[in-house]
Amino acid sequence: MTTELNPDSLTELLEQAREDYRDLVARRLTLDLTRGKPAPEQLDLSNGLFSLPGERYTSEDGTDLRNYGGLQGLPELREIFSETLQVPTGQLLAAGNSSLELMHDCLVHALLSVVPGAESRWVDQERIAFLCPVPGYDRHFALCERFGIEMIQVPMTADGPDMDLVERLVAEDAAIKGIWCVPKYSNPTGVTYSDETVARLASMSTAAPDFRVFWDNAYAAHHLTGTAVEIPDMLAASTEAGHPDRTFVFGSTSKITLAGAGVAFFGSSTANVQWLVSKSSKRSIGPDKINQLRHALLLRDKDGLRAHMERHRALLQPKFEAVARILQAELGGTGLATWTSPEGGYFVTLQVPEGCAKKVVGRAAEAGIVLTPAGATHPYGEDPRDAVIRIAPSYPALDELEQAIEGLAVCVRLAGYEQQVR
Ligand code: PLP
Repeated sequence: MTTELNPDSLTELLEQAREDYRDLVARRLTLDLTRGKPAPEQLDLSNGLFSLPGERYTSEDGTDLRNYGGLQGLPELREIFSETLQVPTGQLLAAGNSSLELMHDCLVHALLSVVPGAESRWVDQERIAFLCPVPGYDRHFALCERFGIEMIQVPMTADGPDMDLVERLVAEDAAIKGIWCVPKYSNPTGVTYSDETVARLASMSTAAPDFRVFWDNAYAAHHLTGTAVEIPDMLAASTEAGHPDRTFVFGSTSKITLAGAGVAFFGSSTANVQWLVSKSSKRSIGPDKINQLRHALLLRDKDGLRAHMERHRALLQPKFEAVARILQAELGGTGLATWTSPEGGYFVTLQVPEGCAKKVVGRAAEAGIVLTPAGATHPYGEDPRDAVIRIAPSYPALDELEQAIEGLAVCVRLAGYEQQVR
C-alpha cells in the first residue's frame, strides 16, 4: 500500500502530520464513531409507533394479542418481511427485539439439544468450530468465544468468503458446525455475496451432517444508493441442493424502526422452525405481539417497508458520501489507506498500513475521537495484520462526522509516516 518517498519529502510530510495532529488535539473534540447505531433523526422516523396500535389489540384473524401464546409471531408482520428476508411466511418466526438474541439461542439450543440432522448434541462433541469470515462482526465472534466454539478465520473477498478455502475446510473437518454470514452489505466490509458464493454455500459437501449457515441478513433492506442490491435466496438454494436444514436466516427491524424496541426474525426449514419453537416454548409463553402489531400497522406492507427505508437512506447517504469525500481528499494518493464504498449497510472499512491500526485508533482517542477498537473485526479482538479500522458513520450529526473523519485522516497520516520514517 505504501509508495516510495524520498527522505526529504517524507520528513516534510511527517512534520506536517505532526503539526496537524497538535492542532487536532488542541480542538479538544469529543466525537464517537464506535457502534453502528441509528441517529436520533432515523429513530424519529418510527415515532408513529408510540401512538400505535391505539385501541386495537386483535390480529387480522381476530386473535386477542394481549394474551399469551402465538409462538410463531404475528402472521401479518411475518408476511411483510417474508420477501425481504427471502423466507416463506409459514417458515418465518417473528420474535423478540433482537436477532443477536436469536443467534445466541440457536447456538445454546444446538449445544444442549440435538439439531435436526445431528447424531448428538454439539456440547457432547470433543471439538466444535465455526468458520468466521474476516473482517467480520465482533458480536458473532463474541458468541463463539462465550461458548468455547473454536473460530477458524476465512478471508473475505469482493464476492464473500474465500469459497475454495470454505469448501476445503468443511469437507475435511466434521467439527466445523457452522459459518457466520452477513450476505448483504456485510459488517464491516459492505461486501455483498455473489451468486456463485451463495450457490457454493448452498451445495457444498460438509463432513458435519448438522452443519448450519448462520445467514445474518441484518442489512437486507438497508440500501445506500438508488439501486437495491439483491442476493439469491439461500434458503431455497440450499433446499434445492438437498440441504433443507442447512440455512438459519436471521434479521430484525433494529435499524428499520427502533434499535432497542424492534422485532427480530428467524426463518428456516419447517423442521428447524419446529425445533426452535419447541425449545423456545420452554423459555417463553410467546413474544410481544402488541409490539409486532404496532410494527405491522406502521409499515403496512412491503411497499411501506421500502418507502420507510428510503427515508433512512435520505438521512444516511449524505453521511457515507461525506466519509468517502473526506477520505479521498485527505488520504487519496498518499498510499497510506484504502477504504470501502458500501452500497448499503452501516459501515466503511478503512485499511491502513500493516501494524498501524492500533496506533491510529490510539492517536484518535487521545484527540477525543473514539473509534471501534482495532482488532474488533477479528476473532478474539486480534487482527493479525493490525490494519483494519471499522468506521460507523450513522450516529453522529453530519458536521461532527466530518470533523471526526478529518481528524481520523490526520491520525492515519501521522501513524503511517511515522512508521515509514523508522
Ligand atoms: N447482525 C449484524 C451483522 C449487525 O451488524 C448487528 C448490529 O449491528 C446485529 C446483527 C444486531 O442485530 P439485533 O439488533 O437484531 O440484535
